[in-house]
Amino acid sequence: MKPAGFDYYAPRELNEALNILGDAGENGRVLAGGQGLMPMLNLRVLSPALVVDINRIETLNGLRADKDCLTVGALVRHADLLRSPDVCVGWPLLKEATQQVAHMAIRNRGTVCGSICHNDPAAEHPSVLVTMGGTVVIAGRAGRRELAAEEFFTGMLSNALEPGEMVVELRYPHPQRLVRGRHL
Ligand SMILES: Cc1cc2nc3c(=O)[nH]c(=O)nc-3n(C[C@H](O)[C@H](O)[C@H](O)COP(=O)(O)OP(=O)(O)OC[C@H]3O[C@@H](n4cnc5c(N)ncnc54)[C@H](O)[C@@H]3O)c2cc1C
Repeated sequence: MKPAGFDYYAPRELNEALNILGDAGENGRVLAGGQGLMPMLNLRVLSPALVVDINRIETLNGLRADKDCLTVGALVRHADLLRSPDVCVGWPLLKEATQQVAHMAIRNRGTVCGSICHNDPAAEHPSVLVTMGGTVVIAGRAGRRELAAEEFFTGMLSNALEPGEMVVELRYPHPQRLVRGRHL
């Protein structure tokens, strides 16, 4: 099957992406790893007028761990988590869950943020982010805001993003900073 026609943009700067998405409003979609979006386009479940490919925006590649928090940028792939000694040692639940995601080809391409945004009820990452008391960092051209994971997920295949917004990073508190899902 083939998708309906759409305009395609592949900006190198985050601000440019946010401006394009802001202009497009409800007619725009972000393309990250494409493992969820492309089937939806091909089946015509979604028919956006415009797709913004974020893969050339280098600032979205960050994966950083410190003693309190793991920060996962919008282009961090499932496989990047599994290659990270910080994640494997410090965030073992995240490692265990990521190992269950599909197979290697999907894990090499699909992003953690894409899985969060797609919010398939069968997916591993949304429930892990909620369980770990994580935070979703959202950007639009008007600025940034942060939502607790449990506020981000609004229902099956849906989330709290407003038109023109995208997720730029996720934050996972260090497990030792949590007691029953609450920050110490
Ligand atoms: C054969 C197959 C098997 C799979 N098996 C599993 C599995 O076992 N477990 C599992 O959890 N997942 C599974 N997946 C899904 C996989 O994990 C995808 O990687 C994930 O769902 C989407 O990530 P992506 O980067 O490919 O996102 P994309 O496909 O690029 O995008 C998915 C959706 O999120 C939006 N989006 C993406 N990034 C952003 C962003 N930064 N801001 C705003 N919106 C954004 C897109 O617009 C789109 O609506 C499978 C996929 C396939 C094809």
